[in-house]
Amino acid sequence: MRRVTIFGATGSIGQNTIDLIARRPGAFRVIALTGGRNIALLAEQARQVKAALAVTCHAEFYADLKAALSGSGIAVAAGPAGMAEAAARPADWVMSAIVGAAGLQPGLSALEHGGTLALANKESLVTAGPLLISAASTHGARILPVDSEHSAIFQALVGEDPATVERVVITASGGAFRDWPLEALAKATPQQAAVHPNWAMGQRITIDSASMFNKAMELIEVREFFGIAPDRIEVLVHPESLVHALVGFRDGALMAHLGPPDMRHAIGYALNWPERAELPVARLDLARIGRLNFSAPDPARYPALDLARRVMRSGGLAGAAFNAAKEHALDAFIAGRIGFRQMARVVEHTLDILSDESGLADAAIDLDKILAMDRLARIRAGEAIEKQKVNDLR
Ligand code: NDP
Ligand code: MG
Repeated sequence: MRRVTIFGATGSIGQNTIDLIARRPGAFRVIALTGGRNIALLAEQARQVKAALAVTCHAEFYADLKAALSGSGIAVAAGPAGMAEAAARPADWVMSAIVGAAGLQPGLSALEHGGTLALANKESLVTAGPLLISAASTHGARILPVDSEHSAIFQALVGEDPATVERVVITASGGAFRDWPLEALAKATPQQAAVHPNWAMGQRITIDSASMFNKAMELIEVREFFGIAPDRIEVLVHPESLVHALVGFRDGALMAHLGPPDMRHAIGYALNWPERAELPVARLDLARIGRLNFSAPDPARYPALDLARRVMRSGGLAGAAFNAAKEHALDAFIAGRIGFRQMARVVEHTLDILSDESGLADAAIDLDKILAMDRLARIRAGEAIEKQKVNDLR
């Protein structure tokens, strides 16, 4: 029986992971589930899959979780110590599905056990890609991509020589505002941004899809995960979200990965790898779909993409600064403190300031430097907002 742990079990990815695990009783032993504020769901999941340990990352919810699981025999823990306990218990397969840079440390700890880390938490690759990759190789662990585009690339590369890859193309739906006039974007609300045309996901990644900060992070993710040079990674707007990624080889062949917009495919691929197990996802009827559309992204509409290219050129601590500034800007947008288009200005301004004052292209990165940069970038992004350094994009 494979021992599995899920970080972020109560989120969108976590719930899809539980769904797949629950469909195969007897195949998995659930070591630990972690969640945040959704105590009722966490307790329900823990009972459903008979987890040995349930953890909320918020210490103040310990008593609630304890009460919700009383009589179940399931161990309960909370706060940073609880998260550390979940990470310390050995598992063969760990799902990293916390949202934000908070997912970095659990992911790094999981790699120390040498098993498989199924990585949905793209922020950890953007923030500390080289650290994760080297931790995996030091401990004989494996990282499998769960982001749908990266799972698609991974699958297209099976049996191929990486040296023959000419380019990688990831697709983007264009998000909630793809067809809005540019001038209208300044007034877009968080509620409007949090509606995805095709995918059902958590609130933050859905808003990041509207701004394409999600795709920007995915560009960096391709760079870090597959070691592809930035000028060989392209983005295509594909409103149907059925082709997830394409890999172009030196003989001109382009291998596309298609599937319905259902994360249980990518999660299930990572869960069952190296086997391809049957999965409860819809089958595409291409004759009914009839046509697929593609276009180049408009840089004026999606400035986040150029910011990601700047981060890839810089390397070092630029990813940590970029991710933290983006998280701060997103918090400010959700709280109604800045407009939709100002998010990119906040990130750009923060990168400008930090490049001047500390230099971001520090080759010798380590966890302490990354965490320090994460904190500093949030402070600088906050100052940029306070001092109103960030006007709407024209
Ligand atoms: P959700 O917001 O739906 O879920 C996030 C999970 O993390 C919840 O379990 C939440 O707990 C928990 N959590 C939130 N903050 C913290 C924290 N500070 N410390 C510990 N746990 C925390 O996110 P998604 O499932 O949408 O996304 C998860 C990750 O997967 C993200 O990195 C995202 O970019 C990536 N991803 C998601 C996809 C999707 O389809 N959703 C697709 C591809 C990648 P609670 O809700 O109980 O408070
Ligand atoms: Mg994706």
